[in-house]
Amino acid sequence: MEEFFKTALELIEASEKHEVYRDAECINLIASEGLKSPAVKEMLRLTMDLESRYAEGENDLMGHVKRRYYQGQKYITVIENCVTDLMRMLFRCSWVDIRLVSGTHANLAVFKGLSLTTKSKKMVVTPLSAGAHISHDYTGLAGMVLGLENIEHAYSIRDMNIDPDKSAEIIRAAKPGIVTFGGSLFLFPHPVKELRDVAYEAGAYVVYDAAHVLGLIAGGVFQDPLREGADFITSSTHKTFPGPQGGVILADLRDERIEKAIKNVQFAVFPLSTSNTHLGRLPATGIAALELKIFGEMLAKQTVNNAQTAGQYLYENGLKVLGENQGFTMSHQLAVDVRDYGGGKRVAEELEKANIILNRNLLPYDDQNNREKPSGIRIGFQDVTRRGFAKDDIRYLCDLMLEVIRGKRKPDEVREDVIALRREHGEIKYGFQSLQEAMEHLQRSVKGI
Ligand SMILES: *Cc1c(COP(=O)(O)O)cnc(C)c1O
Repeated sequence: MEEFFKTALELIEASEKHEVYRDAECINLIASEGLKSPAVKEMLRLTMDLESRYAEGENDLMGHVKRRYYQGQKYITVIENCVTDLMRMLFRCSWVDIRLVSGTHANLAVFKGLSLTTKSKKMVVTPLSAGAHISHDYTGLAGMVLGLENIEHAYSIRDMNIDPDKSAEIIRAAKPGIVTFGGSLFLFPHPVKELRDVAYEAGAYVVYDAAHVLGLIAGGVFQDPLREGADFITSSTHKTFPGPQGGVILADLRDERIEKAIKNVQFAVFPLSTSNTHLGRLPATGIAALELKIFGEMLAKQTVNNAQTAGQYLYENGLKVLGENQGFTMSHQLAVDVRDYGGGKRVAEELEKANIILNRNLLPYDDQNNREKPSGIRIGFQDVTRRGFAKDDIRYLCDLMLEVIRGKRKPDEVREDVIALRREHGEIKYGFQSLQEAMEHLQRSVKGI
């Protein structure tokens, strides 16, 4: 009994401490973690009843609620339809599914739906070490859960990108049902328009995994996958898209080929892989979409600027920042080879002691099974950008990182400076400070004032 109560106390204390540690005393450079505005957080707190509800059922070909198997749906249906419409308008597409609870779940539904449509088990994917997500891989969801067979895109280490000419040959020879683009280490736009016709002719659907870059796409930077020829976008809603943790699928119902696929993807969502769809996150996801509609372009541009500023500065100071021949990055991320400083694991752990949080990462020339000792680190700038970091703050942050990486100062000492820098950036920009502020903005806009 006493053990149980002690554990519960420990839980509460750790939860309280975590909020202060990661939200107020660390600088977060993990490329996959978004930062929610005060308005988005307020909306999450407001929807605690919704967080307990169910809304199982089918949707129509716009992504609207068609049939639900529960009572009490009067407002839930409105909420689901509104969030679907906000996402459809933000991404200029005709069909959205927002019932996915994560990006991995979105991939599950799309890969399953498309393999039902094409009756093919083959998919052409980026190698893991070159940036694909584990859910695309034969060692993860695609292989071990769905039984799909991976054939790898050709990858150019020099360009840090898929090699379009060689990949075209691979797709023609393999005749896969799915060709994927997008990934977790993702510096430069993938060659979607160069390869879409090759994929279509081979009988494949083109899936673009935008988990990392969805917020950049909303802001009109990086690339525009649907217009470039992607049939489906799968994504998380909590990386550069600054909403609560969740998933989404987007598509344009252009023709019968897509219609057939959408129906199978919807079947893979429900009944195959959902019961509860975590409704409590939906209104806050809608508020994040609203923020991107208004501030998304500025936010995306500044995020990429900050990443490029850091790339240039770290490079000038002797670090091996990849993608140097193309300006280091066109996204929110950098990849740095830190083998000279003990490798990715050591560097990430040293920086953690200084309260700078980022992750070690495989680089394209690493053995992809060697996840313990990767050569690199990945650095993301979406969080600090939202906290208002611009050129000078970014350079100062890089100086602090360099001191730790080179062993010039003790991480414990640097930590004091990191906490002070974090405290200087108390306000979250490119978003609303409260729901009231968002409402006032909307009411003015609707009235056209
Ligand atoms: C993060 C990520 C995912 C998985 O998203 P979750 O929401 O964490 O399940 C899928 N694909 C890519 C490319 C990712 O980076």
